[in-house]
Amino acid sequence: MRKVYLDNAATTYVSSEALAEMLPCFNTIYGNANSLHEFGREASNIVDRARDRIANAINAKSNEIYFTSGGTEADNWAIKGIAHAYANKGKHIITSAIEHHAVLDSCKQLEKEGYEVTYLPVDKYGLVNLADLIHAIKKTTTLVSIMAVNNEVGTIQNLKAIAKTAHEYGVIFHTDAVQAIGAVHINVKDMEIDAMSMSSHKIYGPKGVGCLYLKNGIRIEPLIAGGAQERAKRGGTVNVPAVAGFGKAVEIAVRDLGMNQQKLKAIRTYFLDQVTEKIPYIQINGHPHQKINGIVNISFEMIEGESILMLLDLSGVAVSTASACTSNALEPSHVLRAMNVPDEIAQGAIRFSFGKNITRSDIDYVVEVLQKSVEQLRSISPITKAGRK
Ligand SMILES: *Cc1c(COP(=O)(O)O)cnc(C)c1O
Repeated sequence: MRKVYLDNAATTYVSSEALAEMLPCFNTIYGNANSLHEFGREASNIVDRARDRIANAINAKSNEIYFTSGGTEADNWAIKGIAHAYANKGKHIITSAIEHHAVLDSCKQLEKEGYEVTYLPVDKYGLVNLADLIHAIKKTTTLVSIMAVNNEVGTIQNLKAIAKTAHEYGVIFHTDAVQAIGAVHINVKDMEIDAMSMSSHKIYGPKGVGCLYLKNGIRIEPLIAGGAQERAKRGGTVNVPAVAGFGKAVEIAVRDLGMNQQKLKAIRTYFLDQVTEKIPYIQINGHPHQKINGIVNISFEMIEGESILMLLDLSGVAVSTASACTSNALEPSHVLRAMNVPDEIAQGAIRFSFGKNITRSDIDYVVEVLQKSVEQLRSISPITKAGRK
């Protein structure tokens, strides 16, 4: 059976270039990067090179990059570590309602510790409003954390304006840029970003590694205690193979950004033209143009996303729904809810996320099985039977 993977916002394969960087680190260059002998130096040279590559890609300094176990750890660390380090200034932080759960759940933990968190609303396209941000900032606010690109709908925030606003009020700005790397140009100095989370496995690097960029001078409490690694800010023996692959993956993602986005833009247009022509009663979620090309979120009215996902899976097409299945009820996505998408429309949402090797023939196949699946499901849908105006 033909297989088409359209779930690249969940994870990607490891590129051959990233894999080639990693392989020697498993059994040839196997030293502990913190050991003082030659074996250790060889390993630490690999880690240094990866750090340089990432710093170059985002216009940071190498000593502003701290390796972590991934985007989730980087988000947890940034939110809790900065909130704790500045607790004597105040205990209020601001984020948005559409963040990844790594950010939202970290904020929930802080609330249990007595912090106050403001969850900014978004408009129907998923954008945070600057006036809302300004209105929310108080004397006790220490941190604003707003994601660069949303992972469900692909909306790109006005990051620089948000960062500038936070700084006008003396507040630190963190962004979750996991979905932004390789999709939009990120220059931490120009964009006035103080802290930024990145992940490897969304950009053709290995799983289980990421980093936090932290501008020199910004204080943070360690999340993982236990050693002098990462300038005594993040304990644990450095995962040298993963870091090597991650460094290469970031370098390639940023080097090929223009080419990949151009290709994905054409693919997205091709896909949307066909879907809108062949399948009625759909709604495209997200911003009409201020969005990345690799993520398309579509609601198919009168049916449930989970059912579509399962039928597509039977035909070898991998997509995802944004909604998480909690107990018996299908909870609609918190992102679509915040964008004021009605629950019954949100429930029919599917995220298609394209990889850099996608072809037009893949899209033709996907549209064919998608059309069949939607027609089949609608033919048995009680909502359709009840009669749609
Ligand atoms: C995937 C993702 C994360 C989590 O990164 P991991 O490396 O998988 O822990 C965080 N934020 C966003 C926006 C993501 O898409």
